[in-house]
Amino acid sequence: MNQNHIGQYAYFQDTIRPITEANLNIASAANLYGLSVYSVLHAHHKNDSWLLFRLQDHLDRLFASAKMIGFTLPDNFLNTRSLSATIGELLRTNNCESDQFVRITIHATSLLPGIKTSDLTYHLSLFTYKANPILPKSGARIKTSLWRRTADTAIPARAKVNGAYVNSALAKQDALDSGYDDCLFLNQHGLVSELSAANICMIKNNRLYTPDVASDILEGITRRSVIDIASEQGIPVIERPIALTELYTADELFACGTSAFISPILEIDNREINAGEIGPVTKKIQKELTTRQTQANSDLITSV
Ligand code: PMP
Repeated sequence: MNQNHIGQYAYFQDTIRPITEANLNIASAANLYGLSVYSVLHAHHKNDSWLLFRLQDHLDRLFASAKMIGFTLPDNFLNTRSLSATIGELLRTNNCESDQFVRITIHATSLLPGIKTSDLTYHLSLFTYKANPILPKSGARIKTSLWRRTADTAIPARAKVNGAYVNSALAKQDALDSGYDDCLFLNQHGLVSELSAANICMIKNNRLYTPDVASDILEGITRRSVIDIASEQGIPVIERPIALTELYTADELFACGTSAFISPILEIDNREINAGEIGPVTKKIQKELTTRQTQANSDLITSV
């Protein structure tokens, strides 16, 4: 484990090897054009095994991302059962004790192929790192960015493509430089989209609102869990376009994502939310998500 809490071993080109030997060629399409698709999932350590939260959903989204950008993967590219076994082996090789994130990436590895996405060679990589949340658990301060979310007609936010994260990096850096924890993206229509690497939810009059899937968001797997949890707890869920100023008068706001977990947002554009206190619905959903991520009998869990 190094300074960044990255496991010392990674999986690349069909073998687990030291991460220092898991390298992409500088002339690969992945490096030249950002042509890799990825997902990050939460792994909980329990009784000598690892619980992988919503593995199948992460793989489905990974394939959907690959399809959207036009990767032509061979039919037998990935087998869920053998991949989950490999993830288990990697976590054990890295000798991790605490919860981890597992980053699964499909890279376009062809060398100097020209700017195209199909009929290339593709390789899978895996690495693990400590599951530290990217936003403060005590509550985040966010700022609406001047950078807009990439439109579906430019680079689809729905596809989790490495190159698209330049958009997130620009907005996040601007927020950090201005003394905030993260940015809020609006889309090209000026409507609420998401944070740099998390979705956003608003509680108003005991209902949960979140931007709909046509608001240029990544369709987060945690967002889906939040919607399920709220529905099961009798909280009406409304997915629709949201105007920025609706957020200003929210009863509660929170970010959700694998790396953000459920992070309360207590300030947006210098306006306090819920008098700077974490709200009761946020706490309830936070607690239930943790339960689901750590319960071996949940049908969303793959145990390895
Ligand atoms: N939006 C963006 C832009 C993200 O990068 C992430 C993190 N993957 C999310 C939302 C949340 O998605 P998930 O819940 O699947 O981690």
